[in-house]
Amino acid sequence: MKMRTIYFDNNATTMVAPEVLEEIRPYFCELYGNPSSMHTFGGQVGIKIREAREKVAELLGCEPGEVIFTGCGTESDNTAIAGTLSARPNRRKIITSRVEHPAVLSVCRQMEGQGYEVVEIGVDSKGRLDFDELEGQVDDETVIVTIMYANNETGVIFPVERIAELCSERDVVFHTDAVQAVGKIPINLSQSNIDLLSLSGHKLHAPKGIGVLFVRKGTRLTPFMLGGHQEGGRRAGTENVPGIIGLGKAAELAMQNFDEENNEVKYLRDKLESSMLQSCPDSRLNGDPDSRLPNTSNISFEYIEGEAILLLLDKYGICASSGSACTSGSLEPSHVLRAMGVPFTAAHGSIRFSLSRYNTEDEVDFTVEKMPGIINRLRELSPFVAK
Ligand code: PLP
Repeated sequence: MKMRTIYFDNNATTMVAPEVLEEIRPYFCELYGNPSSMHTFGGQVGIKIREAREKVAELLGCEPGEVIFTGCGTESDNTAIAGTLSARPNRRKIITSRVEHPAVLSVCRQMEGQGYEVVEIGVDSKGRLDFDELEGQVDDETVIVTIMYANNETGVIFPVERIAELCSERDVVFHTDAVQAVGKIPINLSQSNIDLLSLSGHKLHAPKGIGVLFVRKGTRLTPFMLGGHQEGGRRAGTENVPGIIGLGKAAELAMQNFDEENNEVKYLRDKLESSMLQSCPDSRLNGDPDSRLPNTSNISFEYIEGEAILLLLDKYGICASSGSACTSGSLEPSHVLRAMGVPFTAAHGSIRFSLSRYNTEDEVDFTVEKMPGIINRLRELSPFVAK
């Protein structure tokens, strides 16, 4: 009998929603025209792209003209930073945080090599951003502040509206990587001072390979991709038509029952988390329980390796993640947990569970039932635990 998969790794990627798949199916073999073509066959695709742009704009609370489709969240982040630096060459300081995704941190560090001053703001033991440090750093040399909306490993939500207001007062561009936040918490850019915002389709039940960069009207940005006139000349390259249409549908789905679905996800996440913390000794929560995405839980099981836990969970068909650490092939604990000062023995045994609207209570109960056995078995083998 085929083992079922219990998927608690939705911050890595999500299942394409069946409604999304249905919507995009015709755009591979039937309606495969190029939206730039003059004929009706291509033109009908252009209409669907316009509709998708409107739906994404509605989800974000912005104007359709402020939505640029890109290839992924990484491209959106890279474009936001590089495009701003190039459009405002007189300023030489970049401010970011120590817990950003590599899609932001790598660009900032590369810019450091090119003579920019890069300041990485720290976080406290709960992963909360040091706003006072940030406030003290934003000066008239600063070209861009790039701080994520919510952290991918801990789910901690940052005070982006406060940061946006500060940046607006000091004439500094503010970019936020909202890849993990969109669809999980309400975002309304019409009531905001955020200048640039990144999102990624595959984190909200659209296909992989489609992203968005929101660019507030009037924000100066040099295009990253040069070539054709697509996206109003702001991002060249023939559009990923199925990806865009799929993202439009995913945005529509995210808006339907937004509160009910996210409340249900939060209920399941809380049940999973509290049961594990209760039933597994020497376990602790990483992150701020008062300001977190509803779907994410990061728990450290002390004195054992996260990778070993993942392998044993995998035997039951349960998918989770041990943070970004081992994706890099190194055994370094995650840079996010290190920035939070999580002790070595706890950082190594950290597991991220990230849920979606497709998880069920039965899956949570099954996982909670298996977890103490897994932890006890590994602790018996651990050199760090007194026998
Ligand atoms: N930013 C954050 C916070 C992420 O979690 C991710 C993906 O995990 C990305 C950016 C990159 O997005 P993409 O996979 O679409 O390039």
